[in-house]
This record gives sequence, C-alpha cells and structure tokens, in this order.
Amino acid sequence: MSALLKRRFEEPVYKVTIDAGFTCPNIDGSKATGGCTYCDNTSFSPALRKGEPDIARQIENGAKFYRERYQAQKFLAYFQTYTNTYDDVGRLEKLYAGALKHRDIVGMSVGTRPDCIDEEKLRLFQKFAEQRPEQLICIEYGMQTMHDETAQRINRAHDHADTVRAVELTRKLAPDVHLCLHLISGLPGENASMIRASIDELARLQPDSIKFHHCYVYENTVLAREWREGRYEPPNLEMHVQLAADCVERMPPTTAMQRLIGEINAPGVLAPMWGKSKMQVVQMISDELKRRGTHQGSRWS
Ligand code: SF4
Repeated sequence: MSALLKRRFEEPVYKVTIDAGFTCPNIDGSKATGGCTYCDNTSFSPALRKGEPDIARQIENGAKFYRERYQAQKFLAYFQTYTNTYDDVGRLEKLYAGALKHRDIVGMSVGTRPDCIDEEKLRLFQKFAEQRPEQLICIEYGMQTMHDETAQRINRAHDHADTVRAVELTRKLAPDVHLCLHLISGLPGENASMIRASIDELARLQPDSIKFHHCYVYENTVLAREWREGRYEPPNLEMHVQLAADCVERMPPTTAMQRLIGEINAPGVLAPMWGKSKMQVVQMISDELKRRGTHQGSRWS
C-alpha cells in the first residue's frame, strides 16, 4: 500500500491513526457481548480509552510525529479503532469530512465489520470519492476467515455471507472507493488447508488491497486465557511464511498487498514470539517466493 500511495501521491504517505470513540456491535450487545476472542478488552470500558477526542488535534499530533521523524508531508486519516461505521450516517459524514478537510490529509481509510455497512453509508463513501477525486477513499472490512464455524468459535458474530454481501454492495454503490479485506492466518481450530480455502475465497472477491496477518495473542483477551490454559496454539513462523507466500501467489496481480504480517514485538503481545522483526519476516516471505520461482498472481485463477 505504501508503494501504491507513493505512486499516486508522488511521495511517501503516512497513516495517522484516529480513535473517533466508536464502539462495536459485538461488544455493546446489539450483536453479541464479549467481542472477538482476540480483541483487546480495553474496548469494554470507554474509561480506559486513551487519547485526544478532538479529531483535528489527533491528526495534528500524529502528523507532527511523522514530520519530525521522517520529514513527512502527506497523511492518510486511518479510522482504525473498533468499528468505524457504527453510528448514524449524519455523524459519520461530519467525522469523515472533518478529517478529509485537513490541509495535509490526502485521503482516509475506514476499518469496519462487513455487517456494519448499508446502502446509505456506502452512498456517503461514494459521495466523498466523487467530490474529492484527488483523495483516496478506502473502506476496510474484516473478513478474517471464510469458515463460519471458526467465526463462531472466535465470537465474531457475523458470517461469511455478510462479507460477500458487503463486498458486492460496495462494488455496486461505491465503485470509486478502494476496497480492502483483512484475513487472519492461524485462528483457533484452523489448519493450513482451511486457511488456503479462505485465501482462495479472498482472491475470488478481488479486493483492491488486502491485509493478511497472523493471529497473535494480546494480553487481557479471551484468547490469552485460552493460550495460557493450553487450548490455543499460535501459528509458528514457518507456517505463516508458507501461507503468506501462498497468499501472494493466489492474489490477482492487481490487488495491492498492504500487510503480510501482524504484530510481533508490540507491547501487550504475548505470543507467538518468533524472535524476528517484521522486516525480517517480510524478507523470509520474499525469499520463499524466490525459492519457489513464483510471484504475485502466478497461481491466481
Ligand atoms: S469486530 Fe473488531 S472491535 Fe469488534 S470485537 Fe471484533 S475485533 Fe473488537
């Protein structure tokens, strides 16, 4: 994605993460309670949410960091925290418009659940894309797996049909919006062939970009308890490298790879501990593709 952004905006673009104070239907009881088993439980208590409620100031603070460290000049507003379309369309419009009008913002990316989108919200996204063709308007859906039994096991509280519906509706009503899908390798109960089936389904949906990452155990989560009790085994490095290489081979050549690895050394991450940096893991994936003599799209059909 950074390459895609650099090509489009002719210089590096840095993502500024925004916490707009959303919650999630999987936490507040409207779909379920408890959240996904890997979700950071800070989300259960708004009092524990940190940070600046003013969006413009959040952008300024984030941009200042990148300006000072990398001499950055252009930024993407990343609505990342929890479910960023989970509100009425009037409030969403105000929030997104507020971020997009910042002088150094070249677009926005909005992370959400596929069951938290509807026609009205997608028309809003398309309106932004049409009114601001110079900006990148992106929506990211957490598909995570195509297997409904896994979704149930991790308390995802939506099924794969929701993802397919969201993708189809987005293509129909918001054709100028960049569509990104997320997939996780190593979810509880999944083996390599199940993950490959999800990768093939992801490829069939032909997103504009993907984020493929391994399942990691974060402190204070249900998954952390399962891991401590020996009921969950995180993916090992070799398995993730193989699956990430499979994923690259099977994606359409036009799909941008935004991410091929999850968090590994961030504070709060308990497992897996691979003893590598993200860059080293990405290099291992690239070496694996070289070893196979394959490349992105070589096994796409
Ligand atoms: S959908 Fe996202 S925010 Fe909601 S519980 Fe799951 S991981 Fe957490």
